[in-house]
Amino acid sequence: MILIDETHDAARRSWVDSANGHPDFPVQNLPLGVFAGANGPRIGVAIGDLIADVRGLAESGLLDDRWLPALTQSTLNAWFAGGPEDCRALRRLLSDLLSGEAQRAAVEPHLVRMPDATMHLPCAIGDYTDFYVGIHHANNVGKQFRPDQPLLPNYKYVPIGYHGRASSVRVSGEPVVRPKGQRKPPDADVPDYGPCRRLDYELELGMFVGRGNALGDAIPIGQAAEHIAGYCLLNDWSARDLQAWEYQPLGPFLAKNFLTSISPWVVTPDALAPFRRPMSPRPKGDPAPLPYLSDATDSSNGGLGIQLEATLLTRKMRAAGLPPHVLSRGEAAAAMYWSAAQIVAHHASNGCNLQPGDLIGTGTLSTADADGLGSLLEISQGGKTPMLLPSGETRSFLDDGDEMLMSARCAANGAVPIGFGSVSGIVTAAR
Ligand code: CA
Repeated sequence: MILIDETHDAARRSWVDSANGHPDFPVQNLPLGVFAGANGPRIGVAIGDLIADVRGLAESGLLDDRWLPALTQSTLNAWFAGGPEDCRALRRLLSDLLSGEAQRAAVEPHLVRMPDATMHLPCAIGDYTDFYVGIHHANNVGKQFRPDQPLLPNYKYVPIGYHGRASSVRVSGEPVVRPKGQRKPPDADVPDYGPCRRLDYELELGMFVGRGNALGDAIPIGQAAEHIAGYCLLNDWSARDLQAWEYQPLGPFLAKNFLTSISPWVVTPDALAPFRRPMSPRPKGDPAPLPYLSDATDSSNGGLGIQLEATLLTRKMRAAGLPPHVLSRGEAAAAMYWSAAQIVAHHASNGCNLQPGDLIGTGTLSTADADGLGSLLEISQGGKTPMLLPSGETRSFLDDGDEMLMSARCAANGAVPIGFGSVSGIVTAAR
């Protein structure tokens, strides 16, 4: 159910001055996160350059007292488990508190400057799954290995995914220690063990599971969207040389699980309501999704109108005061062959139980054109076409000292634009 209500009203302004016209966090967004307070991690909401301490608001009686047990936790798991109705009601209350003057004096003591806050993971992530729904990425990568058949026959029937590792998911800013592993270049007879030589990023969206499902029960496609508590940016750091050698026959393992970085703010489905699009039409001749993945409402508004951007700043560029170099720009809706709801419905279709706070990645989101490629593997065509940077340096893959930063914005006619904040990480030498 997609609801546009007074919280999306473009005329609504906050008494927090920095929120009005803020590229990411105007009062129409209100993403939830976990920040370090004086007494440990607490739940907060981003508003302009500030964080409103949601726990503080709840304990002051400014929210619904029934929510106290969930909103006073140090993660969002219990809150997300409550489901979309409570999330919607909290959004309405926070929007009123931060736009109306009535409670301003009561709310102001609960505001914290965002630059002073350390962000934590929003949830205790029990399980992390990464999908592969970016069809242009799948095509581009597939071509490098199988020029005649880039997409395997299952791709257009199955939202392909694999179980990732939750323990190494970290919030933005975590240093990216260059992983070591088995490397076997094509011209070598045997592998050796050492630092990754082809370190890459993957531009993805992450989604957090809200209400879960019992083991053995599926989630019907028509209800799947209501099980998503929110979205973030996700960088699935990837060691391509390790990956090429290890991935057959069971798929990604050590090439992927050394670190996954996410942005700290969880943008809710309600905040994204004005930016929904129809799903990209399937190319002529493609099979229709099987009935358990097919839903008319989802086809007409399951597309995410989220503009993604990935930038690179090398050590040399940083020293020279150069701005980050844009590697890619593109829209999630144009990249995704399967919707978020289809991903969730498929994941639970065998009775696998999703749990509140689980993290699901979409897979690399590349657009059809060269401006929106979501990994260096695609940009440099597997290292064959290094790119030239404004500093005069070239890159096929990431060097030590390189910083990757990803951001996302949403815009639509009649709506106040919102953003996701960012996820970044600097590569450090292997140890
Ligand atoms: Ca991935």
